Amino acid sequence: MMVATQSLRLVDRLPKVRGTYRANANLGQYTWFRVGGPAEVLFRPADEADLAVFLAGKPADVPVTVMGVGSNLLVRDGGVPGVTIRLGKGFAGISHDGSILRAGAACLDLNVALQARDWGLAGLEFLSGIPGTIGGALRMNAGAYGSEMKDVTLAAEALDAKGERQYVTNGALCFGYRHTGMPADWIFVAAELKTEAGEPEAIAARMMEIQAKRETAQPVRARTGGSTFANPDGAKAWELIDAAGCRGLTRGGAMVSEKHCNFLINTGEATAADLEDLGEDVRARVFAKFGVDLKWEIKRIGMRLEGGQ
Ligand SMILES: Cc1cc2nc3c(=O)[nH]c(=O)nc-3n(C[C@H](O)[C@H](O)[C@H](O)COP(=O)(O)OP(=O)(O)OC[C@H]3O[C@@H](n4cnc5c(N)ncnc54)[C@H](O)[C@@H]3O)c2cc1C
Repeated sequence: MMVATQSLRLVDRLPKVRGTYRANANLGQYTWFRVGGPAEVLFRPADEADLAVFLAGKPADVPVTVMGVGSNLLVRDGGVPGVTIRLGKGFAGISHDGSILRAGAACLDLNVALQARDWGLAGLEFLSGIPGTIGGALRMNAGAYGSEMKDVTLAAEALDAKGERQYVTNGALCFGYRHTGMPADWIFVAAELKTEAGEPEAIAARMMEIQAKRETAQPVRARTGGSTFANPDGAKAWELIDAAGCRGLTRGGAMVSEKHCNFLINTGEATAADLEDLGEDVRARVFAKFGVDLKWEIKRIGMRLEGGQ
């Protein structure tokens, strides 16, 4: 008897890999907001070759989503269909050849900054203020305090949707404001970053300065997703949000941060729907007052629960 493909469990339709597949895996625990439904399947590839095998062999109808450490991500309550990929140890190497530092996509930005400091390589201090991974930093052209990935990336290595390796130099990465122009289905596996020789003490001092500024300006210990909306041309999102009266606004367990009103916070019991609906409320209020259509910077993935949750 023929078995309809749809009736097979998704994990049974996926290629054999050395990494792990986990069905119905809680994703909220891997995000800063700590909310959201499960991944239909969570895949942790062992290394780049394993990821390539997966991409080359996965059925064409299975959607794939990649995440870093979820510091710019809102996972909706209904979960994420298909396979969600989370890179781990096999993608966390850091090395350097003279002034060129190579970091795997799963490296935390902070660890890259600290390692660069120890090697006396300057220029990556800004990464110590961004709580994501190198993969997320490439995708988002992450930046802070006057530097962004565009300024320090010599090249990125990625696997395309078929699992083929692509090496892309800075100009071809099409970096824009919190954006990379690379196809949405490419998965970054490493970055080559430009540095210059520096004194570890001076580098450390610059990093401490950045940490101190962050502590004052951002709710860095809260369950948040960083800047919710991109700054519109010629304006600051937080100023518009503040002037539209949204500072401290709440919806269920979600709140607009009092400290930095372009940050949304899960005060404890928020659902993803609370956070997303509060964000939409903020957008509507800013639009009503200023005619400015704020664009989400936070990436929202997955499905809402039926019934509006
Ligand atoms: C307290 C706080 C402060 C923040 N401050 C800043 C700041 O100053 N500057 C700034 O720019 N950002 C800031 N952010 C936002 C966030 O840290 C960055 O956008 C970061 O680069 C996201 O990295 P991530 O690994 O967490 O990615 P995730 O949030 O997991 O994912 C973000 C996007 O990147 C994609 N992605 C992740 N990994 C890969 C990969 N390997 N290949 C392809 N795509 C990938 C995901 O699909 C998703 O679209 C802040 C966030 C928080 C919570």
